Amino acid sequence: MDFKSIIRDIPDFPQQGIMFRDITPLLAHPQGLTAVIQGFKTKIAELNIGEIDCIIGIESRGFILGASLAMALGCSFVPVRKPKKLPSAVFRVEYALEYGTDILEMHQDAIASGKRVMIIDDVIATGGTAAAASKLVEQSGAELVGYGFLIELDFLNGRKALPEVPIVSLVNY
Ligand code: AMP
Repeated sequence: MDFKSIIRDIPDFPQQGIMFRDITPLLAHPQGLTAVIQGFKTKIAELNIGEIDCIIGIESRGFILGASLAMALGCSFVPVRKPKKLPSAVFRVEYALEYGTDILEMHQDAIASGKRVMIIDDVIATGGTAAAASKLVEQSGAELVGYGFLIELDFLNGRKALPEVPIVSLVNY
């Protein structure tokens, strides 16, 4: 499946100068999500990183892709959320945006220490969000074994912001 031809490009959203890569047409395609998850599975298998115990999905499109991948791999799924959404005790990380800061949280008891986890999101742009999620994994004592992104914006070189673990992406711009 040619993902790029189905992903929709929306100029100047959510602000001037941003080309938003809208994955909703791909999710709406009857075989779209299946093809994406199959793509992730193939590329992850090629990494030879061994067993994955847990997929972490970053709010909110990372939930859709991450939970689907967790089902396909037969492993657990843990959401990383925007602040004040999770009801129990959380690990929290504050990270810099172009203007101001943002916060991500994860339940403290979501992942047991030593578990092998992979972080999933729809897009890696500057890498700031995915790097922040890795700090939550660190706080939990789990082991980050890789990252998976549906879309990578190569020109922003977000990979450089991430810890040195294998990274898979299915579509590059
Ligand atoms: P960053 O922290 O800069 O890597 O941004 C990644 C987060 O912002 C992801 O959760 C994406 O969903 C979202 N994002 C950033 N840039 C785009 C884009 N051009 N199109 C769609 N989503 C984006």
